[in-house]
Amino acid sequence: MTKLADYAARSETSRGRNYPEEKPVHRDEFQRDRDRIIHSAAFRRLEYKTQVFVNHEGDMFRTRLTHSIEVAQIGRSIARALGVNEDLTEAICLAHDLGHTPFGHAGQDELNNCMKEYGGFEHNLQSLRVVDLLEEKYADFQGLNLTFETREGILKHCSVNNARELGDVGERFINKLQPSLEAQISNIADEIAYNNHDVDDGIRAGLLGIEQLLECELFRSEYETVIAKYPALVERRTIHETIRRMINRLVCDLINETKVNISALSPTSIDDIRNCDHALVALGEDTLEPSRELKTFLRKNLYQHFHVHRMTHKARLVIRSLFQAFAADARLLPHDVQHKMDEQDGINARYRIISDYVAGMTDRYALSEYERIIGPVMPGQ
Ligand code: MG
Repeated sequence: MTKLADYAARSETSRGRNYPEEKPVHRDEFQRDRDRIIHSAAFRRLEYKTQVFVNHEGDMFRTRLTHSIEVAQIGRSIARALGVNEDLTEAICLAHDLGHTPFGHAGQDELNNCMKEYGGFEHNLQSLRVVDLLEEKYADFQGLNLTFETREGILKHCSVNNARELGDVGERFINKLQPSLEAQISNIADEIAYNNHDVDDGIRAGLLGIEQLLECELFRSEYETVIAKYPALVERRTIHETIRRMINRLVCDLINETKVNISALSPTSIDDIRNCDHALVALGEDTLEPSRELKTFLRKNLYQHFHVHRMTHKARLVIRSLFQAFAADARLLPHDVQHKMDEQDGINARYRIISDYVAGMTDRYALSEYERIIGPVMPGQ
């Protein structure tokens, strides 16, 4: 690793873990966090969770696992260029979607509806709940007992009410402070990754056309460059070449803009980053608008495409039906989940156990639970 900047997060000065542990021998604290995330059950399940296209739609599309790996790759490149902590950035990136339900955003929205009267459901808060509580692997503690810095990075947004209940990682939302640069990088790396891979998956699925995408400046400018330079290139390679240039343009612009922002503040410690009244990791003028334009384009033309909507419609039905069935009759739940419910007082706490169980399912496990409990469901439309 290159020399860390003064304002980078440092393993030696970490605010530590909730349950104090011996220092790792051949790794530092953030490397240990990353390793624990990779060895978690929730991380493995990301392989069978929807990013945009439900898992059984095809083997070529991104899943939450490949998405998380792409986010980590982009995050690490940016962290290295800015002289901040690559290992911490990687840990946050790999963990950022651990709390996602099956079936992507449709699943989360439906579970939130089911939990509306009982504290709600939010995937980002759930990611923290997974690493703090739901992983049950270690002898001495619940969860993965990650460092404060990794947990701080996972919690991207949070209401003041929730923040009050979360203790140390919630404080910045009450005091309106920024997270580390490593956390800020992970946040934008997520956006860069999905905006670009969703273009790729959207074209591959036949839901987005090149003509249509030329409306977006970010796609058009890189596509035209590629066509001019390689007029005989087959379409599949032209698209890949275009997308890799789009990612490169966004990452380079982000690094340049962030360097300017950092030198304007001249921070000498991570606390200077946290106490700043604005985020320093940001896209510059050249890419901010084009990036927003692409995001809006994808919302309208891909996420709301009738084909995607059909998948999400059915996904909502599956999530809602499972939740309602378990809420009406807890005896349908596996023994260990029933046992956890029995330990809880009050409906909110009891329903939270159902919500955790449903949120932890992969797409195909949710579908098979639906079939076992409710009735046949045909995959695809
Ligand atoms: Mg993500």
